[in-house]
Amino acid sequence: MGSDPWENRTRTLLTIRRQGPRRFGRSPPGWEDGAVVSEPVKTLPLVFEEPKGPRGRRPKPPQHLADLTPAERKTRAEELGVPGYRARQLATHYFGRLADDPEQMTDLPAAQRAELVDGMLPHLMSPLRTLEADKGTTRKTLWKLFDGALVESVLMRYPDRTTLCVSSQAGCGMACPFCATGQGGLQRNMSTGEIVEQVLAGARSLDRGEVPGGPGRVNNVVFMGMGEPMANYKAVIGAVRRLTDPAPDGYGMSARGITVSTVGLVPRINQLAAEGIPVTLALSLHAPDDELRDELVPVNTRWKVDETVEAAWSYARTTKRRVSIEYAMMRGINDQAWRADLLGDVLNSRGDWGWVHVNLIPLNPTPGSKWTASDPRDEREFVRRLEAKGIPTTVRDTRGREIDGACGQLAAEE
Ligand code: SAH
Repeated sequence: MGSDPWENRTRTLLTIRRQGPRRFGRSPPGWEDGAVVSEPVKTLPLVFEEPKGPRGRRPKPPQHLADLTPAERKTRAEELGVPGYRARQLATHYFGRLADDPEQMTDLPAAQRAELVDGMLPHLMSPLRTLEADKGTTRKTLWKLFDGALVESVLMRYPDRTTLCVSSQAGCGMACPFCATGQGGLQRNMSTGEIVEQVLAGARSLDRGEVPGGPGRVNNVVFMGMGEPMANYKAVIGAVRRLTDPAPDGYGMSARGITVSTVGLVPRINQLAAEGIPVTLALSLHAPDDELRDELVPVNTRWKVDETVEAAWSYARTTKRRVSIEYAMMRGINDQAWRADLLGDVLNSRGDWGWVHVNLIPLNPTPGSKWTASDPRDEREFVRRLEAKGIPTTVRDTRGREIDGACGQLAAEE
């Protein structure tokens, strides 16, 4: 048994669910010895709001140009005592030229340069460590934020594109038992600037030829790092806008290159659909039935499979973007042939106009977890059954697994 009693308890509960109530040989802490248990117990609460800081206040990250719209930047420049057009010059350095050294910003008056850069391009995060895999084309960076909070981002370069997987919160409050981030709880929301800076840091290292394959750009951004993006909605939308605004207002990437992944905060999915930005939505479903999903993805106790899939379907209908269903394959837990059939039926019940595809993720190991990845034969059968029902299905590669940089492995420890 692992050292984390909560892990063991969840595992035991899933066993009970499949076998019916039984007596524990060894009771988890706080339970009567030999108690008969038939109800699921949630040890980690769902946390939607960031916890309050000391004395009820949380210090905010320094305000950065990337937190602001072009109009707000102008005002900010004026507050700093310079003409509004300086804001655009700074944005050109940051988003357009990918500069981060004030010395290079020679179009700014030398006497005010340091003050302007401090005021609008403040230092947001320091890299503590970068781990590499795949001959340097997969790079996981651990960042320390201004208040000591730790987050990770992962750059993945493929022959034809580069993807940046970013964090949107330090930690995560969604408590999914198979995810390393979920087990650490939520420390705080990240600011728009902190989210954007993860992408820009990757963009700078690509631009400078520091990643094997020659100079390049970030083509894809996936909100699949630490955190639940829909629980930090405003900052995430701000980041999406900054990344898609044409240079020099933003990084100028295509909204189609951005994927927002969620456990299924239904009202937020609906809100995102109404924004009119065609980003791809990924829904972490992991089970087609409420009984199992209540345990694997605790937010399911708020919004059930049916209304969650309905929101995803409606997102696809509004945005004309195909939704991606994420499904981590866990041996003996959610990988049975009948669940593949049920998943196909649940998705097809909304119509078969190609609104959805399924992305199976071989379960990545997390510390202390008892779960393992599915048998490849079960995985193949799962794919076969979904495809037989007309659902396009892919199996995700597990890049970064050896550096704990794959899905669900980001835990940000020093
Ligand atoms: N909170 C959002 C964003 C994180 S995305 C969400 O859950 O969608 C990270 C993806 O990796 C999610 O689909 C998550 O369910 C999945 N994941 C978590 N732990 C995993 C693990 N151990 N193995 C494989 N995938 C995992």
